[in-house]
Amino acid sequence: MTILEWQDQFPTDEACREYLFKQRWPEGFLCPQCQGQKYWTIQRSERTAPLYECTQCHHQTSVTAGTLFHRTKVALRVWFMAIFMVAVDKGGQSALTLSRELGLKYVTAWLLHHKIQQAMADRNGLYKLGGLLELDDAYFGGISHGSGKRGRGTDQDPVIVGVSLDAQGHPQHAFFEAVSDVTNETIAEVLDRRVESLGVWRTDGWAGYAAAAKTHHADHEITLSDDPEAPVVFHWVNILISNAKTFIDGTYHGRGRARRQLHLEEFAYRFNRRHFGTRLADRLLVACFTASPHPYRT
Ligand SMILES: [Zn+2]
Repeated sequence: MTILEWQDQFPTDEACREYLFKQRWPEGFLCPQCQGQKYWTIQRSERTAPLYECTQCHHQTSVTAGTLFHRTKVALRVWFMAIFMVAVDKGGQSALTLSRELGLKYVTAWLLHHKIQQAMADRNGLYKLGGLLELDDAYFGGISHGSGKRGRGTDQDPVIVGVSLDAQGHPQHAFFEAVSDVTNETIAEVLDRRVESLGVWRTDGWAGYAAAAKTHHADHEITLSDDPEAPVVFHWVNILISNAKTFIDGTYHGRGRARRQLHLEEFAYRFNRRHFGTRLADRLLVACFTASPHPYRT
């Protein structure tokens, strides 16, 4: 979908609300409390979305209740356009760009972007990688106070990265997980959530992967990092790490593990859906209205 088609589909807040109404209740209104089908519309003000009150049990709901847009003060049309922009831009849309392009205060744009990233993270969390995997840990953040040594044992921030490959060796899906360390416990916790059991795991033999491969009954193929074959074996995971670093350095300057993780989720979300083309905006919109509200806590 092009930006013009998107604007034609969602020209007003009203059009966005109608869209959400149809997505939420494709067969017509259904009270979430008593399954009643009749409702009154309560228009509270010009700016806010109307409430729908069930005529049977008087439960009130709205099209945005329970979605990422819950209690939002930002116009739905602006939300929808932000989602489109975040979906289609390969470099990622930083809060600064959103604020400039949509005429929003920086804090508002930042919050929108943050919430859209959380919807992406929710989606990413639904899938596990399986089959043939390249697994490694990467080190983000350039500040190393010590010897200048890079990698494990330095004070750089570790990120566990996995990519699944098809039979021809082409990359399929990827995950990134910013972690505090690469101990066996941490690696086990991450891989339990991100990776299916069985399959073939290619790693550099780090103890955490060896232990997890055992519990997951995976075939563990070890190639040490100084092996001349290593660049071939870890081709895709290396490319992904390098691209993710470019993405994060180019677009964001925030630090801290939680922020870094959300940026990585955005990168992974787009990578895993790279063949969707312009349909990605529709998919991201669905991800946003099916996502939980994610109240922002400072
Ligand atoms: Zn009801």
